[in-house]
Amino acid sequence: MTRKLYWENPYQKEFQACIEKVRPSKTAGSKELLLDQTGFYPEGGGQPSDQGTLSGHRVTYVYLEDTSIWHVVTSSGEGLSAGDQVTGVLDWPRRFDHMQQHLGQHILSAVFDNSFDARTVGFHLGEQNVTIDLDKGPFTQNELDRVEEMANNIVFDNLEVLSSLVSDEGSQTNEIRLVNIPDHDICACSGTHPKATGEVGLIKILKSEAYKGGCRLTFLCGKRALAAYQHIHQQSQQAAASLSVGWPELSEAVKGLLQDNKQLAKENKDIHQQWSTLKRDHLLAEAQVFSGVPIVTMCDDAMEYKSLTFLANSFRQAPHCIALLGITNPSPRFVLLNNTNSPSVSMNEMLKESIHHIEGKGGGNAASAQGGGSRPEGLAPMLSEIRDAVIEKLK
Ligand SMILES: [Zn+2]
Repeated sequence: MTRKLYWENPYQKEFQACIEKVRPSKTAGSKELLLDQTGFYPEGGGQPSDQGTLSGHRVTYVYLEDTSIWHVVTSSGEGLSAGDQVTGVLDWPRRFDHMQQHLGQHILSAVFDNSFDARTVGFHLGEQNVTIDLDKGPFTQNELDRVEEMANNIVFDNLEVLSSLVSDEGSQTNEIRLVNIPDHDICACSGTHPKATGEVGLIKILKSEAYKGGCRLTFLCGKRALAAYQHIHQQSQQAAASLSVGWPELSEAVKGLLQDNKQLAKENKDIHQQWSTLKRDHLLAEAQVFSGVPIVTMCDDAMEYKSLTFLANSFRQAPHCIALLGITNPSPRFVLLNNTNSPSVSMNEMLKESIHHIEGKGGGNAASAQGGGSRPEGLAPMLSEIRDAVIEKLK
């Protein structure tokens, strides 16, 4: 059985040990070491394993196998053999972060248990998020605010965290470790915890969402909560500054902005519609008439696609005409409309004949066809060719 220094003193950042066994790892370039004692916490109970170094070799993962703790070490060469003495150094910021999140979890679980009779059935401590799964919920914002306040009060009370080992009856090797926050919580846990609740720092609940008949609660503690606060504060300050308000007024300012945006979009649409009617009537007034059918040909270098679609819609509502509408900027796009009900003039057929001018694609039917291409300079010849074909058909 590997002696667990991390239980005896969870603040031990460096330790000496003797290598008992070495075996190859499944990961290429790595081997696994068994030590007589270790300060590295092996993955378990929702808490990820520690990382660090063993005599300068990187420890990437630590795990428990029966009562043995194996260290996966990046080293393919010499230097780590059974019988050697090694110095272990923990990645302490990582470990302390885990200790803060883990004790924060104990405190939150205790508050939910004591106040809502909700049991914790899952715990996950990830690189980004920390979650617990509860057998009740989801909870309202009001309830979450109350839980947050009670949990942070336990932090502010700076209560001593006690842990003790009791032997598991019926087993020689298994021992159960009890972790106790006096007056609040006692539970079996193998993880690492700070010596007092004050070290958890802030506990902040981020969200509660329905999960497997209960809820999943996402939260942050300690330095993670501080980092999140800094990030959110910076973001909201920047957003508020760009809207020329203080960050407490940000939400109202965004609502106002969305309202303005909606109004502007409506005005933009109205203006486009009015413009397209005027433009259409102007083009129709100038159009040459063949066999009683006005034929409009437009090849515009400045018009935007949105305007083209408005204009085309306006022509769809005009009676008895043919409109060949195109824009070249930034790439050629066109709409061909035939309002004459004359089946001999098929816009789709003519599109197929002439679209090679712009090296493009398109399609439609006898009354309406559209498309686009990659040769802007080919659009005017294409529309002119189609116009000539239309005139020929109308004869
Ligand atoms: Zn624990």
